[in-house]
Amino acid sequence: MSSINKILGGLFPHREPKEDEYINEADGLIYCAKCCTPRQCVINHGDRIVTPPVMCDCQRIAEEKAEAAFQKRQEEFRIERMKSSGLQDRYLHDYTFANDKGYNPEIKKAQRYVTEWAMMKENCIGLLLWGNVGTGKTFIAACIANALIEKGVSVLMTNFSKILNSLSAMFDVDRNKFIESFNRYSLLIIDDLGIERNSEFALEQVFNVIDSRYRSKKPLIVTTNLTLDELKHPKDLAHARIYDRVLERCVPLKVNHQNIRQLNAANTLRSAKKLFSTEEEV
Ligand SMILES: [Zn+2]
Repeated sequence: MSSINKILGGLFPHREPKEDEYINEADGLIYCAKCCTPRQCVINHGDRIVTPPVMCDCQRIAEEKAEAAFQKRQEEFRIERMKSSGLQDRYLHDYTFANDKGYNPEIKKAQRYVTEWAMMKENCIGLLLWGNVGTGKTFIAACIANALIEKGVSVLMTNFSKILNSLSAMFDVDRNKFIESFNRYSLLIIDDLGIERNSEFALEQVFNVIDSRYRSKKPLIVTTNLTLDELKHPKDLAHARIYDRVLERCVPLKVNHQNIRQLNAANTLRSAKKLFSTEEEV
């Protein structure tokens, strides 16, 4: 016996069928009693025949299912990590298209942005969600963020108050790195442009963030309480160079249908009144 035959014989010794197996008389191999497919195959090596194990159909299907479940869990973990990193305010995780109450017809356009993401990304097209306070601009922007993250797109949603707080505690060289780090994300969403302090430092940093994004040729979504007219006709050059870049890359979308905060408050008050009313009052 050659040494390879010895090794093969040692690796695949003859074995008896287990409880859930039988020997198929047609080929002498061990078969699965459940799916009736072989759990051995035949390999001829010179004058020696060895019968290494193979998976029967039901073992293979079970393994494929386990692998698919593992991959699904891995994907869920990945998306969870992307949400934690991109949407650091936990409440934003609940701002999804599924949770939309239908107050804003603009939500359809936001869904369209997600459906057309490949084109938006390719052409570096963002959105400028503008309108009065409490009309749901943050909600709509976060819906887009959540939906894109679910599709595996990296999104960072932040605001200038946070950015300026971080930047004011940094040295210049770190500031640049911090601002550049936003460009690792395929989509940057900045909530509430225009509420930041109008100091020279603040305006300079806001410009740096917007300009860095502009130069990265990656999409940007901005929400603002400013009107389109205020954005188009800023009071000075410092504001103009910020807003010009935003207007060049972001499609304005007016979100001004109803004041959602007031609507929610009215609904809550109505429910509370019912809770405390007596039968005579109803
Ligand atoms: Zn089987």
